[in-house]
Amino acid sequence: MTEREAIPFDVVIVGAGPAGLAAAIKLKQLADASGVSLAIAVLEKSAEIGGHILSGAIIDPAALNALLPDWQARGAPLGLAVASDEFRILGAQRSVAIPSLLLPPQLANHGCYIASLGNLCRWLGEQAVAMGIDVFPGFAATEMLHDETGRVTGVATGDVGDSPGIELHARYTLIAEGARGSLAKGLIARFGLDQNSEPQHYGLGIKEVWEIPAAQHRAGHVEHHLGWPLRDDTGGGGFVYHAEGTQVVLGYVVHLNYSNPWLSPFDEMQRWKTHPRLRTLLAGGRRIAYGARAMTSGGLQSIPQLAFPGGALIGCSAGFMNVPRIKGSHNAMWSGIGTAEAVFAALTAGRSHDAIEDLRSTLLAGPIGADLRPARNAKPMLSKFGTRLGTLLSGIDLWANALIGRSPFGTLRHPAPDHTKLRLAQQSARIDYPAPDGKLTFDRLSSVFLANLQHDEGQPVHLRLRDPAVPVRSNLPLYAEPAQRYCPAGVYEIETGADGQPTLRINAANCVHCKACDIKDPAANIDWVPPQGGSGPNYAGM
Ligand SMILES: Cc1cc2nc3c(=O)[nH]c(=O)nc-3n(C[C@H](O)[C@H](O)[C@H](O)COP(=O)(O)OP(=O)(O)OC[C@H]3O[C@@H](n4cnc5c(N)ncnc54)[C@H](O)[C@@H]3O)c2cc1C
Ligand code: SF4
Repeated sequence: MTEREAIPFDVVIVGAGPAGLAAAIKLKQLADASGVSLAIAVLEKSAEIGGHILSGAIIDPAALNALLPDWQARGAPLGLAVASDEFRILGAQRSVAIPSLLLPPQLANHGCYIASLGNLCRWLGEQAVAMGIDVFPGFAATEMLHDETGRVTGVATGDVGDSPGIELHARYTLIAEGARGSLAKGLIARFGLDQNSEPQHYGLGIKEVWEIPAAQHRAGHVEHHLGWPLRDDTGGGGFVYHAEGTQVVLGYVVHLNYSNPWLSPFDEMQRWKTHPRLRTLLAGGRRIAYGARAMTSGGLQSIPQLAFPGGALIGCSAGFMNVPRIKGSHNAMWSGIGTAEAVFAALTAGRSHDAIEDLRSTLLAGPIGADLRPARNAKPMLSKFGTRLGTLLSGIDLWANALIGRSPFGTLRHPAPDHTKLRLAQQSARIDYPAPDGKLTFDRLSSVFLANLQHDEGQPVHLRLRDPAVPVRSNLPLYAEPAQRYCPAGVYEIETGADGQPTLRINAANCVHCKACDIKDPAANIDWVPPQGGSGPNYAGM
């Protein structure tokens, strides 16, 4: 293969989500305001900007207001303000709404917008391009580049067939890959960025978009659900956002520290839709989109060091999601903005390839810290005490923070990574999920069809098993190979050959890039790496 071409930039940003695009735009604004010329590149693995973004989304516009105060005049796709808000506890047949006076003020969605984060990123990408930033969709960064002392000097894109990838050299490289980034995972390990923080925790969010009859639609209405069908010892819940037109957005999140290997987040979501409240809402409707994505849920205690020599982690690659608010996009943007300011100061001081000192404490001293500090015990409480008691205690904690500015519980820990939490299959109750009816509930394959997948089957498998024997040798006898159930796209299947021996089949082309397998495999044996640029889902408006 011929040598890789190398292109020099001042700053290279991996990932065109809210964090990466906010960082690029802020850097360019600072450069333009001081008459400095900066070469900025943003790499994005999806074929189009926004094509791999999956979120709720109720968007808190605070960071966007700071970045582009005239976003309304520029036509940002945030047209629908939240009009009404309910928090419900579900039983199998009924549900009760928690009176809004009891809800901690941090959970209010007043002033937020129901939107597609993918569409917002498409629009942010257009703003970035118009400013002269080089945005490259369809290019996955697969490798960090280092100099002889180990400092990061840029990234390389993957080879495509016989064509070598490209090297993008940079004075600073920002990693904005979102939750469980593959380059971020390597950097955290290489530079020990998480040595002084708790492990990151995750939830798997599964989302469907429906068109429903106009009479059942209440534009701007928002509901969050806890309880059925999940057992009390499993964290998670559902959301229902009445979006523009007659669309309704349904999402179901299962925390990935669940312990029963028979659990299937995909099937829990299907079951949730059979609750009378959802059945009535969706009657006569039609599902038009499907996807899944992991979100970070460790909160403040799980934020690693952000800076490494030559760059920094931003957005959910570091993990700024606020769990009780189920919002992370505003903090992703704040981290992009704050990091851009620090990087710009370093660049104009003539520095390159060093670690931006105190970046973590600087960012946590601002709006991100103010948002995450009061919410820091929510996830550990759910994990320790279950959904009912954990939610009650977390509500008391949020109220205490709102009223007296501190927590009576101090700061709780959650030290065990999600993949260590599975019990043995034999010691766990089997879960029998009802068969899909093809109208309200569906199977994985017909669902994945709605994710608009593109994947060249000729490329190397991007789901790398560190030890290919582990799935059949240990995961199958110990945990009934849980990948068959936690993967929301049916990628992993155990097949029995003519000789009666089980083998693992990997349908890599079905992968929707949610990253659950990289997080939940009990042997931590799966490394998700980016497939060829442009592969994967092509979400429209997720
Ligand atoms: C189900 C669900 C519901 C949510 N609901 C809400 C909500 O209502 N409100 C809210 O504010 N937040 C919500 N969030 C959280 C929010 O989506 C995240 O906080 C936010 O998307 C993080 O932004 P980011 O830029 O860090 O990462 P992302 O949005 O994940 O963007 C990362 C981008 O980087 C690209 N990328 C990754 N790796 C590479 C690579 N190696 N090379 C090139 N490109 C790469 C990806 O394709 C992607 O486009 C939700 C999340 C989920 C999963
Ligand atoms: S293979 Fe892994 S990343 Fe892909 S959809 Fe399945 S669980 Fe998600």
